[in-house]
Amino acid sequence: MKYASPRGTRDILPEESALWQQIEKTCQQVFALYNYREIRTPLFESTELFSRSIGKTTDIVSKEMYTFTDRGDRSLTLRPEETAPVVRAALENNLIQRDQLLKLYYIGPMFRYERPQAGRYRQFYQAGVEAFGSADPTLDAEIVIMAWQIFEKLGLLDLEVDINSVGDEKCRPQYVEKLKAYFKDQEKALCEDCRVRLQVNPLRILDCKEAGCQKVIDKAPASADNLCPECKEHFEKVVGWLGKSGIKYKINHRLVRGLDYYTRTTFEVVSKQLGAQNAVCGGGRYDTLVEELGGKPTPAAGFAIGMDRLVEVLKSTGHLPAGRHGRTQSTEIGIYIATLGEEARKKGFEILNDLRQLGISADMDYIGKSLKSQLKAADQEKARFTLILGEEEIKSGLAKLKNMQTTKQEEVPCDARIIAAKLQLPK
Ligand code: AMP
Repeated sequence: MKYASPRGTRDILPEESALWQQIEKTCQQVFALYNYREIRTPLFESTELFSRSIGKTTDIVSKEMYTFTDRGDRSLTLRPEETAPVVRAALENNLIQRDQLLKLYYIGPMFRYERPQAGRYRQFYQAGVEAFGSADPTLDAEIVIMAWQIFEKLGLLDLEVDINSVGDEKCRPQYVEKLKAYFKDQEKALCEDCRVRLQVNPLRILDCKEAGCQKVIDKAPASADNLCPECKEHFEKVVGWLGKSGIKYKINHRLVRGLDYYTRTTFEVVSKQLGAQNAVCGGGRYDTLVEELGGKPTPAAGFAIGMDRLVEVLKSTGHLPAGRHGRTQSTEIGIYIATLGEEARKKGFEILNDLRQLGISADMDYIGKSLKSQLKAADQEKARFTLILGEEEIKSGLAKLKNMQTTKQEEVPCDARIIAAKLQLPK
């Protein structure tokens, strides 16, 4: 019997994980620049947390959750997104304080039972932020600018921000009514799913990708044209900040996003370097979610970056991390110790341990290779130096140290400190 990874999941192998580490590091650096701190929450939560926050009629809750009953008869769900768990954790641990801005970030896997295709997986990875405690449009602008900075730093090209406002509890109900009346008139042209959406959640129709529906959607009333004065002013300020920051953006009236908790700003960052699944980041404001989940009214905003798609773009454009043969410097070893004979092997192992204690990446053979094969291995491992130890070297107390780039060789005492000083490796 042969096993394979479950449909929609895959292994990230060492050649690719260097790229993942680079993306994670870039995200962490930029998040720190904006004063966000990391939070880690469980991979599963009570099912109710997601159905309440994301919305029962959304695709995620109605058909994409990995839900199971545990042995204690609890209904649990593998997290399909991280905003609700972060809100839950912030409330449970009393992190949200009056008159204080709370800024958190996370990096990790999410799970959705979606139809797998390029850029869409059942286990995928997101890096995201959530900020609590400010209703100010500069916060909306800050998170868009932050996402943009991450993509620029990674060398992504052809980016654009799609932005919209879905209003708030004051103006959204009227807009939804208007939308409902419009779609009701056009019901015959809508797909079956959208006819159901018309009854349960007309906003969701704007998301539909069916050609017939698209034509109807094109002429539908736009939420940005139906905002109350406060929401309108908020939206104008956010867009104004983006303009000032030199970010390429477009107002996209259809952008309602697949989660129900958004209020006012919604946005996506899209890359033209990707195919159908071209969004690399999605987010917005969610001013009522904290209260819905049992907290005091707290305005908030956040986004999630799809890391799998970033990896796709960076791989396709040859943006592999610096270092020889696609390896990062941290995965190239500093020194390979090649030995001949039992005494030399013992001495070699001692030096190996000492070098590692001194913070130098080092390796040697453990499978009984000949000296020739060991030297070949040193080459394959992209070692910067090789230390050669044979019987003669043991007698004289001097080993041969070879610089693999210049091929220059010199004699060095069998002492890890002296050897380490000779290596001049990047830290
Ligand atoms: P969302 O949590 O739906 O707002 O999505 C935020 C970002 O996560 C999207 O823009 C995608 O880049 C990424 N994403 C969402 N679902 C998937 C998936 N099934 N596979 C890969 N990436 C995804």
